[in-house]
Amino acid sequence: MIRQFELVEKVKAYDPSADEDLLNRAYVFAMKAHGSQRRASGDPYFSHPIEVAGILGDMKLDAATIVTALLHDVIEDTDTSLDEIEAQFGKEIARFVDGVTKLSRIELQSEHTKQAENFRKFLLAMSDDLRVLLVKLADRLHNMRTLSHIPDPERRRRVALETMDIYAPLAERIGVRRMKEELEDLAFAELHPEARDSIKARLAFLRESGDDAIERIIAELKEVLAKAGIPAEITGREKTLYSVWRKMQGRNISFEQLADVMAFRVFVNELDTCYRALGVIHQHYPMVPGRFKDYISTPKPNNYRSLHTGVIGPLKKRVEIQIRTGEMNEVAERGVAAHWTYKQHISSTEGRQYRWLQELLDILEHAAGPEEFLEHTKLEMYNHQVFCFTPKGDLISLPRRATPVDFAYAVHSDIGNTCVGANVNGRIVPLRTELHNGDQVEIITSKGQTPSPLWETFVATGKARSRIRRFIRSQERTQYTDLGRAILEKIFRQEGYEFADKSLLGVLKTFRCAGAEDIQAKVGEGTLTGLEVFAAVFPGHKGGRSGSKIIPFSLRRSQRATGRDGANPVPIRGLIAGMALHYANCCHPIPGDRIVGIMTTGKGVTIHTIDCESLQSFGDTPERWLDVAWDADGSDAANHTARLEVVVANEPGSLGRLSGVIGNNLGNISNLKITLRSPDFFNLVIDVEVSDLKHLSNIVAALRATPQVNSVERARG
Ligand code: MN
Repeated sequence: MIRQFELVEKVKAYDPSADEDLLNRAYVFAMKAHGSQRRASGDPYFSHPIEVAGILGDMKLDAATIVTALLHDVIEDTDTSLDEIEAQFGKEIARFVDGVTKLSRIELQSEHTKQAENFRKFLLAMSDDLRVLLVKLADRLHNMRTLSHIPDPERRRRVALETMDIYAPLAERIGVRRMKEELEDLAFAELHPEARDSIKARLAFLRESGDDAIERIIAELKEVLAKAGIPAEITGREKTLYSVWRKMQGRNISFEQLADVMAFRVFVNELDTCYRALGVIHQHYPMVPGRFKDYISTPKPNNYRSLHTGVIGPLKKRVEIQIRTGEMNEVAERGVAAHWTYKQHISSTEGRQYRWLQELLDILEHAAGPEEFLEHTKLEMYNHQVFCFTPKGDLISLPRRATPVDFAYAVHSDIGNTCVGANVNGRIVPLRTELHNGDQVEIITSKGQTPSPLWETFVATGKARSRIRRFIRSQERTQYTDLGRAILEKIFRQEGYEFADKSLLGVLKTFRCAGAEDIQAKVGEGTLTGLEVFAAVFPGHKGGRSGSKIIPFSLRRSQRATGRDGANPVPIRGLIAGMALHYANCCHPIPGDRIVGIMTTGKGVTIHTIDCESLQSFGDTPERWLDVAWDADGSDAANHTARLEVVVANEPGSLGRLSGVIGNNLGNISNLKITLRSPDFFNLVIDVEVSDLKHLSNIVAALRATPQVNSVERARG
């Protein structure tokens, strides 16, 4: 256990201006507060906050953080109040202690649904000041170091899993590399002790048989660089056991094949010397293709900067070499913690550090529920990055497997919403193409374009997914609102009134709605009936002139799952695997129709009916035509949207009759628009979900047999 004066000396050594009195008071306060409490190890409880403070002292954090560490468990585990802390140590420290206490209260590994909500709270609590997270990470690190004292194996396992899943990635995110590695190693030891032991033994064997390879390699590298006039510090080390294990898992290779278990760091004085040193090393040793990475010109999101390369180095051993300056190393080892050593170091780069956190919080605000949020977060947390460039050379960092759609949304939501195609390294590619490091991406946009629900199946970033979902939700809402309005207009007219939005203003409260649109949307959805709304607006109104009842339209909630741009691919023969598929909005083909595919670069294939009028415009580009047919096995259970143009008599009940006939024939109206009103007739465009052409023919026949219906035709472009 670190003694009081040792801790103070440790802090004073790197920050001579630190408030000694404050540190001393916090030390004594915490010791008194925890009194005779004991840890599972039998140590006095007080040893824990002191060790946590010591860890943060090793990372050279400011006095406020060290004090917070000393006090981090007093609220939770003693009867000290937050007011007391504030009175004794001031507002800032009280706020930090409160933050850490909140983090500690959040049970991250509870049942699945709660986990998402809890993680969301967790991020919110730490977003206030990342020092709160640093204290929490140091707390977790000390608890992991002493994990073996916990008797219950199930609990040990849970803590280790949580460390691996949440805390180590968070430590990596804020660039605190040493903490991340130790957390991983300790969790690894608990979760897979045999694997860890065997890797350790194997490494020891290799070390012995290689008789001091590390020392000899360092000496040779040093000499090679010195001859070129580059003075350098070089350190060598084996990779962590956990990173070796993960590599073996990820690439499914044996230990012997895993050549680069040794990593060397070359420290030089100046930035441009990094590149000179790299040049010298590449001249001397054959480079291993694919291993070179320039994180100086393209830093990682946590601000890590370094050159990486792999060479067949001294002793003909394959080694990994990282080249950086001392300053870069400082950031690499300590990450965000480097900012709080001295107050003046809180600099403009802090904004960069926070960007990923801002993005997470942004998603959190717009996600429909905690489930959706967790899904995004996990993706964001565990994916590695690819770096791409805009045509102007701006850098956009994205998770692996990101597509041009992700890129577009990362640049700006408007660009994402209106994107139609992408030009990657000078070639037009489909929007679902996976992007790679160094790709230059130009997004082609078109005004009036809207996101396709299909994109949701391939985007990799939470931001893109949440924007697409948000758009789909608002689009659904527009459809519901239009439909609801049509129903209300009809019913009002039927009862002898003219409908206007303001008619609804008096009954907003009755239906607990914020605006007239909300009521219309509810009617469209079917959660309210038109008659209910009418009765509320005119409470005294007696009996309808028609006496007929409007049958509410049934509108399927999830049109996107089955509709024309649906995620379920429809079995179509003649398509290239993986090609994006759209059904043309002009002719709305359904199974049974004779069809043809038109290829559009960047969009995939659009399916038209063979008699669609818009096919004429492709007459002189026969190379774009694709011979396709519906798959005959009939296993396709999905519904398809067909568009009908209907003329009905403008008389009470005809709209209800129409929807009744369609409903009786198991058709589902997914959209309805009145395109023309005259005193005698309504012209309607109706989208109906049907299973196939035969189904549609039945509905058309039934409609034609209905007296109020004047004519029914398929829309033909
Ligand atoms: Mn603690």
